[in-house]
Amino acid sequence: MKKQISILGSTGSIGRQTLDVIRSFPDRFRVRALTGHKNVAQLAQQVKEFKPELAVLTDTKSARELSQLLAGYSTRVLSGEEGLLAAAVCPGTDLLVTAVVGFAGLKPTLSAIDAGIDIALANKETLVAAGSIVTAKAAEKGVSIIPIDSEHSAIFQCLEGNNPKYLRRILLTASGGPFRNSSPEELIGVTPQEALRHPNWDMGAKITIDSASMMNKGLEVLEAHWLFNIPLSAIDVLVHPQSIVHSLVEFTDGSVLAQLGPPDMRLPILYALSYPERLPNSLAKLDLFGQELSFFPPDQVKFPCLAYAYEAGEVGGTLPAVVNAANEVAVAAFLREEIGFLTIPRVIRATMDLHQVLESPNLDDIFVADTWARQEAEGIIKAFMS
Ligand code: NDP
Ligand code: MG
Repeated sequence: MKKQISILGSTGSIGRQTLDVIRSFPDRFRVRALTGHKNVAQLAQQVKEFKPELAVLTDTKSARELSQLLAGYSTRVLSGEEGLLAAAVCPGTDLLVTAVVGFAGLKPTLSAIDAGIDIALANKETLVAAGSIVTAKAAEKGVSIIPIDSEHSAIFQCLEGNNPKYLRRILLTASGGPFRNSSPEELIGVTPQEALRHPNWDMGAKITIDSASMMNKGLEVLEAHWLFNIPLSAIDVLVHPQSIVHSLVEFTDGSVLAQLGPPDMRLPILYALSYPERLPNSLAKLDLFGQELSFFPPDQVKFPCLAYAYEAGEVGGTLPAVVNAANEVAVAAFLREEIGFLTIPRVIRATMDLHQVLESPNLDDIFVADTWARQEAEGIIKAFMS
């Protein structure tokens, strides 16, 4: 029986690579639903190739164009948030790949969990903003959340077959991004084009900027905290510029396990899709001869976003959702060239400082905090611009 896969965000970097994997295993996987935001041409092409039951563009005008392009095809086309939610719970889906970027992934992910559908999670912002709610709902519904993020896939694989009570520490690796060796002065004039040039990974714009500011690692610390139910104080970050060791776990006896591989997201994606099986494939294999592996502590003075994420996680409540929202707004403003690279952490810090944290928030509280933080961050950005 083929595993039935739906993909939220199929037009993006992770979505396209997921379809690459599916294309290589036509006897194993079948596509049920695909979604994008505005990319009509890309989704039309995907629908023609994979023939899902449902295709969704959240942007209404783009969805109308898609309908016209797909006249004569049996795929149903929907639009807007209702469409995204319908795709998340598309009947017959065994596994939902959540590869939408940002907080927009939270509602559909929760809907799928509520419907008892297993999740292959790329959309880390969902766990950052509402980790306690998402993990509690998954436990209640008996739903598995299988990580796609390479570091979390590595940790997941290292923990397999080991009793989690023996886990002492997670060592999360980070490439350090394009500015690892830049001086603080050099960071002042960084352009979006420079920040978008990641040394090891080809990813969507938002996560690439997050990698350059090291906010990505901050978000991943929080993601690991929720996925593996481990205190933040037991998660350390190691800068590992080669991106070969995808992360490590240390057990109570001091033994350390690591997962290694070339920097290619299709490997963790394939593992999430085929879990608990391992499928032979044609991806490039790791060759360690001549390969240097080095590790350094992160510079949290030059890259304060990492420290802000730890702080938000320690305080908890609505603060992680606020940090996530302020970061999304600041990154978008940087990409529009409205603020400088170093203003990103300043916007986040200022938004955090204005927030009255609500402990033990429910889902509505998280949405209120997200909306509040976006408005505050926009106001702070305007003040920086004037
Ligand atoms: P991309 O920007 O490449 O793709 C984002 C996807 O989400 C696209 O399909 C886009 O549609 C869609 N989208 C954008 N905005 C909305 C919205 N408001 N509502 C619904 N859909 C929307 O991102 P990535 O693939 O790089 O990243 C996706 C997620 O995976 C992120 O959370 C990221 O942190 C995580 N991740 C990514 C990795 C990578 O290697 N890329 C590695 C590890 C994690 P459209 O194209 O039509 O605009
Ligand atoms: Mg990662």
